[in-house]
Amino acid sequence: QAKEKGGNQYRFFTESLHDQLQAYISFSREMPKALDAHNFTLLYQPQIDLKSGAICSVEALVRWNHPELGVISPQDFIPVAEETGFIVPLGRWVLQAACKTIKYLAQHRMSHIKVAINLSPRQFRDPNLLVMIRQMLEEYEIDPTCLELEITESLLMHDIGLAIDTLKALQALGITIAIDDFGIGYSSFNYLKTLPINVLKIDREFIKDIPQHLDDMEITAAMISMAHRLNMSVVAEGIETEVQRAFLQEHDCDVGQGYLFSRPVVLNDLLLLLTENNSK
Ligand code: C2E
Ligand code: MG
Ligand code: MG
Ligand code: MG
Repeated sequence: QAKEKGGNQYRFFTESLHDQLQAYISFSREMPKALDAHNFTLLYQPQIDLKSGAICSVEALVRWNHPELGVISPQDFIPVAEETGFIVPLGRWVLQAACKTIKYLAQHRMSHIKVAINLSPRQFRDPNLLVMIRQMLEEYEIDPTCLELEITESLLMHDIGLAIDTLKALQALGITIAIDDFGIGYSSFNYLKTLPINVLKIDREFIKDIPQHLDDMEITAAMISMAHRLNMSVVAEGIETEVQRAFLQEHDCDVGQGYLFSRPVVLNDLLLLLTENNSK
């Protein structure tokens, strides 16, 4: 078992198929218990308004604090949760935790900060999704404009008609819809034409080799101007260098997210970052 990415994150990449199957079986058994034992947590990664330098929103990213394995990355357990259906209760927990945070921020005069959560395809197809979100907003007395939902193109492939209806209903509540990991999926342009989407998140894949790869720079600039023409705002993911930030700012990208600004952090550290950022 290997550890990658420094941050003590457990990854499977050196493991055999047998080991992966073992992990799959044990994860699917352990995850419901881990939810009861409060072993899931949310980290928050700031998103920066590239014009002003102010933090305008945060993305909530789930972690599993496993008693034996340490911190497990969502890339390892979300696919399992998606497969077994556990993503539905887990996603509900994520939404609830995010709502608590939105409420907390509002109480600390930071109601201008949006909180984005990731929705997986299975959650999106859950017929209870709308009701659940509406109830949660009411229970925590949340301003829906503070909530953003990140979806991916894969989620749209099953039933585009249903997807459009659901997205429109969510927007009617005041919720912001973002399309995540844009550019690496299928038939992106057709979806952009038909779907009600407010925010386009350019995948890190296009950002990471700026400024070495000229084609990535051209594609990124084109994606930004296309999104703007379609009345969407643009977030660039995975900004790690000052050169990348400058390039994106120069090309009118609205918002930036990445290690250059901050890694995902616990709520307490987020509050420190917000306070610090506010006083600049
Ligand atoms: P994502 O939604 O595209 O989230 C961005 C990922 O990029 C996060 O990984 C974040 O930590 C990472 N990242 C941010 N800035 C940088 C950077 O500058 N450099 C690099 N190398 N990476 C950066 P994370 O937290 O491991 O999450 C991975 C994926 O797991 C997410 O990708 C999302 O698809 C999924 N995920 C995370 N939380 C949830 C959740 O609550 N529900 C669902 N359904 N999926 C989730
Ligand atoms: Mg995301
Ligand atoms: Mg993303
Ligand atoms: Mg991504």
